[in-house]
Amino acid sequence: MRKFDVLVLGGGVGGMMSAIYAKRRGKNVAIIEEMMLGGVLWSIEKIENFPSYSEVSGATLAENFIKQIKHLGIKTISDEIIDVDFSSENKILVGKKEKYSAKSVIIASGLTYNKLGSNEDEFLGRGVSYCAVCDANFYKDKAVVVASRKGSGIKGALELAEVCKSVTILDSEDMSIYAKHNKNEKIKIISNVKALKVVGEKKLESVTFKVEDKEEKIVTSALFVELGKKPNTSLFKALKLDENGYILADEYMETSIKKVFAVGDIRAGKLKQLVCACSDGAIAGQNA
Ligand SMILES: Cc1cc2nc3c(=O)[nH]c(=O)nc-3n(C[C@H](O)[C@H](O)[C@H](O)COP(=O)(O)OP(=O)(O)OC[C@H]3O[C@@H](n4cnc5c(N)ncnc54)[C@H](O)[C@@H]3O)c2cc1C
Repeated sequence: MRKFDVLVLGGGVGGMMSAIYAKRRGKNVAIIEEMMLGGVLWSIEKIENFPSYSEVSGATLAENFIKQIKHLGIKTISDEIIDVDFSSENKILVGKKEKYSAKSVIIASGLTYNKLGSNEDEFLGRGVSYCAVCDANFYKDKAVVVASRKGSGIKGALELAEVCKSVTILDSEDMSIYAKHNKNEKIKIISNVKALKVVGEKKLESVTFKVEDKEEKIVTSALFVELGKKPNTSLFKALKLDENGYILADEYMETSIKKVFAVGDIRAGKLKQLVCACSDGAIAGQNA
């Protein structure tokens, strides 16, 4: 079993920032990542709200972070963690390849966005977005569409309506009651939408869908997939979670189990953004 002072589970921004702070305190730290360091960054085309960049791609930020991780000599391990045991002083992470133990563990395994299950992935970053807060400003004064299920897109639509010209919610269920009470003139809602598909050449140009078997088309600049998200917490049932399954942590980012920390999108917090994951990581790395 490989032993460390601090193990970071997940190599997104939250995990990398945690490791940077722990390493600079002289800790023997490693990041365990199943895919690629950078996490969600690789799927972000354009970022306007990361400090010191007017505009930067997620890939550029990921590459810069990876250089910093290498420069500081932080160990990275390519493995998928499939089980954990936090019951004794030495915390155990069980990977597909090996077992690891550490005095402290920082969980930074992020969340999963529910997908439409159509062809939306082909247009990710080219008109399709999973994050209204992140990308609304790129569609200022444009007409946009929100994919929704049982009203899951309403919050995102309200966010978008602040900057976009119009927002059409395409909901898979009957939303006639909401439509009746909707007071926002920029927001229109279409109920019982089936077979929603993205159409375009290099980028999204329109969406097609069916209502009562009738084929419809809307010309639009963007489709926001707002079908909910779930934190990747299936391994962490021993920790206290909030009602939506996010890990609860205190001001030191420490969870209900001592020396187990949670940072970034997986932690119960109001805003899921890069700077928040960085801040969480700094605090956890400083205390782990
Ligand atoms: C499309 C999109 C656009 C966005 N745009 C912006 C923006 O413009 N500005 C902004 O501030 N924020 C933006 N965000 C939000 C921001 O990207 C996230 O808040 C942030 O990246 C979360 O970082 P994280 O480290 O918590 O999680 P992640 O980046 O999700 O990293 C989690 C990592 O853990 C790994 N992992 C998970 N489970 C395991 C396991 N069992 N074993 C090993 N590894 C595991 C995953 O492979 C992944 O690499 C956007 C998000 C999306 C989806």
